[in-house]
Amino acid sequence: TRPIEELQTAIEETAEARKNIKVKNSVVHWFKRDLRTQDNKSLALASEKAKDAGVPLIALFIVSPQDYQAHLTSSPRVDFELRTLQILKKDLAQLDIPLYVETVEKRKKVPSRVVELCNEWGASHVFCNIEYEVDELRREAKLTRLCAEKGIEFSAVHDTCVVPPGELASQQGKQYAVYSPWFRAWIAHLHSNPDLLEKYDSPGKNSKDSREKFKNLFDSSIPDAPANKMLNDEEKKRFHSLWPAGEHEAHDRLDKFLNQKIGHYTETRNYPAANSTALLSVHFSSGTLSARTAVRQARDANTTKKLDGGNSGITGWISEVAWRDFYKHVLVHWPYICMNKPFKPEYANIEWSYSEDNFQKWCQGQTGYPIVDAAMHQLNHMGYMHNRCRMIVASFLSKHLLIDWRKGERYFMEHLIDGDFASNNGGWGFSSSTGVDPQPYFRIFNPLMQSERFDPEGEYIRKWLPELKDVEGKAIHAPYERGAEKIAAKNNYPKPMIEHKFGRDRALSKYKEGLGRD
Ligand code: FAD
Repeated sequence: TRPIEELQTAIEETAEARKNIKVKNSVVHWFKRDLRTQDNKSLALASEKAKDAGVPLIALFIVSPQDYQAHLTSSPRVDFELRTLQILKKDLAQLDIPLYVETVEKRKKVPSRVVELCNEWGASHVFCNIEYEVDELRREAKLTRLCAEKGIEFSAVHDTCVVPPGELASQQGKQYAVYSPWFRAWIAHLHSNPDLLEKYDSPGKNSKDSREKFKNLFDSSIPDAPANKMLNDEEKKRFHSLWPAGEHEAHDRLDKFLNQKIGHYTETRNYPAANSTALLSVHFSSGTLSARTAVRQARDANTTKKLDGGNSGITGWISEVAWRDFYKHVLVHWPYICMNKPFKPEYANIEWSYSEDNFQKWCQGQTGYPIVDAAMHQLNHMGYMHNRCRMIVASFLSKHLLIDWRKGERYFMEHLIDGDFASNNGGWGFSSSTGVDPQPYFRIFNPLMQSERFDPEGEYIRKWLPELKDVEGKAIHAPYERGAEKIAAKNNYPKPMIEHKFGRDRALSKYKEGLGRD
């Protein structure tokens, strides 16, 4: 059984027990990766329930160090979430809604702790938005049963995708494994179900006496990051200025992007120096911005007021945001991708390299391919990398270096501020040709050609590799081959660690061997 079905079964089997649960003293919304007050389905439902019954709404967030470990959550991301919680706490307090944040060391203890807190607060109803990773779905199934036993109604609802997983099927009734037909179905589904794009109400104000009743929750503070996820002072300064937290920032970014940049998105999105993409991924992945909000606002900015037709920048951007839904649908339907397995089982037989030396050169941006190294420097400095560069470095690692793509996937999660299992796994699967709807295995990016095509003036390279800033003209793409070896050598920039043709031929032969093809 898929974990989503386990949750479904738990909901069905507890229906009787949950039927007559009456609201007691409060209703709880459990925040997870939905750190916003606006257009948040679970929060809206919880608020409505509380209002109808005339009781306070309480917001809860659990810091789970073991979940951070299990999901390889990067320290900048943990810090981003905690900064967002500070903002959220203030915003909610203005509505007389307390936000209580607690660290629960053992992830196994999270369900029982949620129940204990509900009992303490006299809460009979808990709402949350569903997260689609295997462990999370199983936890929610467990909570559904545990809560029902204790006379608490636990409601986990679909919110993070624009179209909930499971709603789209091919004509044969199957889950799509190819993006293009899936996307056509996604658009058609939204045309026939426009309510999926409607905005959920922000929570209403609690009655004043909630301040008295839950004073300790209002007075509580946001815990520090777990010790192994703390940023040092320099990192704090850097990440706080690069990535201001919270939903207000997310909305400002979205509005600016829609007003100033989206018109040229399609032509410019592949050029890493152009600064032309929305830089909203950290907000989507931590839920400070809902994908529904973004798609709705993009649609409303379109001349057609539709998801298709009209402005190609807008429709192009909507189709990128849809990739996020696609990969989550894939995860829900094929949960084994959470278990370190390639989406395409036949790719499990490729003989990968585990050279630590080569891997470290890639991680540190010391491969001797300027576009690859610039991109890795961007990742290591910003916790972010441009999409085109993510594809280039992932292809270089898995094909030229033949290193197991899972090592790269892991490194990305440990460093990205926008790390999201489904999108990251999907991107690595695409680039290494082992995933869903991938790049064909025989398509091997030539890093030099990618560099010349997508960073023609070498602006991106010069920004992230200051050691090459004095290299002029086209030599920037390959300083040792194009007459800039003196500058490169003087500044300790390495020679290419592998020759392109050698890497390409070896990858082709190893992929063919693994697939049992001639
Ligand atoms: P825009 O171009 O403005 O796109 C808007 C939004 O659409 C993004 O914020 C993102 O939510 C979504 N989106 C765009 N492209 C993709 C895509 N290919 N797959 C899924 N969603 C997409 N994205 C993550 O959010 N987290 C990850 O951990 C992640 N890992 C990746 C790993 C690899 C190897 C690759 C090739 C891609 C990965 N992506 C990941 C997708 C993509 O690179 C980023 O979403 C994008 O660069 C974010 O920048 P932006 O917000 O300016 O994007």
